[in-house]
Amino acid sequence: MKQPANNTGSNVRVVFGRGIRKSIAAETRRLGAARALILSTPQQSDAALETAELLGSLAIGVFCQAEMHTPVHVTNAALAHVAETKADCLIAIGGGSTTGLGKAIALHSDLPQIVVPTTYAGSEATPILGQTEDGVKTTISDPRVLPEVILYDSELVQTLPVNMSVTSSLNAMAHAAEALYATNRTANTTELAIEGLKAFVDGLPKVLANPNDLIAREATQRGAWACGTVLGQVGMALHHKLCHTLGGSFDLPHAETHAIVLPHAIAYNARAAAKELQPICDLLGGDNAGTALYQFSKNVNAPLALRDLGLKEADLDHAAELATTKPYPNPRPVTQDHIRSLLQAAWAGDTPI
Ligand code: NAD
Repeated sequence: MKQPANNTGSNVRVVFGRGIRKSIAAETRRLGAARALILSTPQQSDAALETAELLGSLAIGVFCQAEMHTPVHVTNAALAHVAETKADCLIAIGGGSTTGLGKAIALHSDLPQIVVPTTYAGSEATPILGQTEDGVKTTISDPRVLPEVILYDSELVQTLPVNMSVTSSLNAMAHAAEALYATNRTANTTELAIEGLKAFVDGLPKVLANPNDLIAREATQRGAWACGTVLGQVGMALHHKLCHTLGGSFDLPHAETHAIVLPHAIAYNARAAAKELQPICDLLGGDNAGTALYQFSKNVNAPLALRDLGLKEADLDHAAELATTKPYPNPRPVTQDHIRSLLQAAWAGDTPI
């Protein structure tokens, strides 16, 4: 895969490497910072504390309250902490939820960020920030939220449980799959999307065979970077609209929802964009990208049914209505009836229609 710096065309410093987190003090100094505030979720406070230890006197605090979907009240509490501690740099260690908190703080404070990702969500590579307030999720795109440094340490993603490794991989693959038919795609974004998909098609089975295979873990992290980068460069379509609806209005978990919906959304769009989706068939076999992804999901023991995430069948009409109101640009026209049928199949875990 191409080296990140060649593709980003931006000033983001991206470094991969086993144990690279241990260079955190040097990276902090490189930014000219001396008062780092470390961010994590409550579940990853140990990783945050290890980072504080590695930083020594460069750490001025640890804020372990990151939550999924970046609630504004958490950002406000973190901003108060930033002001109190006079932090001059943010270090986010975790998945998309922690990265989101760092981005939200940076939007208000302009503080430089070092992100140390521990999932494959890819948020660190995008200028996109989703935030929630009073149960409403809004998304903005702003270059100020892009981190200055990303450190991909394979030892950190090694602790990602197997089920989360699967769903987080499919979450990343969803960015690349929709990039293949994005209206504003370029030859470069398509190439990067295919590289990202290939990294997971090849790497995820190896990770599942041996979650401690750090070579496979790093390969999948490179895939996460590629998939996140294309997410930030082109527009997303039906799949992301469905997941935003199901996550935002029905509180379904992010990565699991992406994993379940992906084969269905891609099968739906394959009727209008078979040629654009051909790289998925080339990688996975078969002649329909949606059914090929469904088979891949089954092979890696991904969750298949939205009902298993707690979505009620009675909610499907409303979900179809919400997902087709203000739809994102999509290769195949989106109708409420069609989306209701798609959701029924995804709810039951059936083969995509
Ligand atoms: P997450 O960050 O919410 O992590 C899920 C849980 O797993 C958390 O409890 C976390 O602490 C734990 N965890 C993470 N890495 C771990 C590891 N290596 N070992 C053990 N536990 C670990 O989940 P996510 O799927 O990475 O992120 C989802 C959030 O990211 C959503 O809010 C989504 O909207 C956002 N997101 C944003 C973008 C963007 O470009 N803005 C892109 C993708 C995702």
